[in-house]
Amino acid sequence: MITILSGGTGTPKLIEGLRHLVRDEELTVIVNTADDIWWNGLYVSPDVDTVLYLFANILDTEKYWGIRGDTFYALKQLTRYDAEWTWFSIGDKDLATHIIRTYLLKKGLKLHEIVKYLSRKLGVKATILPMSNDRVETIVETDIGVMNIQEYLVKYRAEPEVYNVKFPGLERALPAPGVIDSIRNAEIIIIGPSNPINSIGPIINLKEVRETLRKTEVPIVAVSPIISGKPVSGPADKFMKALGYDPSPIGIVEIYKDFLDGIIIDVADKVYVEKIERKYGIKAKATNTIMLTLKDKVKLAEEVLDLAKSLK
Ligand code: GDP
Repeated sequence: MITILSGGTGTPKLIEGLRHLVRDEELTVIVNTADDIWWNGLYVSPDVDTVLYLFANILDTEKYWGIRGDTFYALKQLTRYDAEWTWFSIGDKDLATHIIRTYLLKKGLKLHEIVKYLSRKLGVKATILPMSNDRVETIVETDIGVMNIQEYLVKYRAEPEVYNVKFPGLERALPAPGVIDSIRNAEIIIIGPSNPINSIGPIINLKEVRETLRKTEVPIVAVSPIISGKPVSGPADKFMKALGYDPSPIGIVEIYKDFLDGIIIDVADKVYVEKIERKYGIKAKATNTIMLTLKDKVKLAEEVLDLAKSLK
């Protein structure tokens, strides 16, 4: 059993590769929910849905959100009504997911039960776990004001300067049922190349999760989302700097050092291999980590599994 910690873009790319090496039934994905939003009265869980659609083979892998070939008629109509949040595009088929999720939430089901239900209906064989059933938000403090993470990422295209990133609700949030067990019972744990602050950060900082990661004997390996000082996409460098981390593989290691056993970094950053191994005692390997083609994804997934096996 392999347990993967994921956000909504970088790690799903790696999962595409893993699926060619390991059966879906062998994969458990703990997904960030700290960037969930209420969108015109509907509960939207962007990272969970990306992972859900990926395993259902319907993900739009050009954008890494939404359903392939979806239309946007409802969004257009909502715009005519001056609805809020219409800058956050939601397709028509995607909308159905949010309607049923909200309906089930209002009936009293928990988020993890709903994800399980949607997984079953979409024929998903992997286990997808929202990190928590409790509401956690991501708030970004910027030079143009304080805003929700989706506003920052989508409405303002991650352009404003960032002073701080906060997670209201995180201190009190409990890991969803299944999360702790999936860490304890894993044979390998993978921290995917997702934003370490706002995608992986909320998961590892949940009560009990960090402790469990520290205590487990299972090899924990990460893939750096930062290459030559820049993320492949998104604002990871800005967020890391705002919180006092160097936007480099060293900064990534600093965030995960208390539980990490191995890390894959990009060849462009190979100068850091020695330092990571010497200073932190963490095994490092440099290889191509840019996932453009399926071949890149499978190759990187192979490297991750090989590194983990070498650490057993
Ligand atoms: P979000 O939930 O959409 O914000 O996405 P994630 O946090 O899962 O993914 C964003 C991170 O993925 C960024 O920090 C990127 O640098 C990283 N990423 C995206 N594509 C790649 C890739 O091909 N290789 C690597 N190494 N990182 C990637």
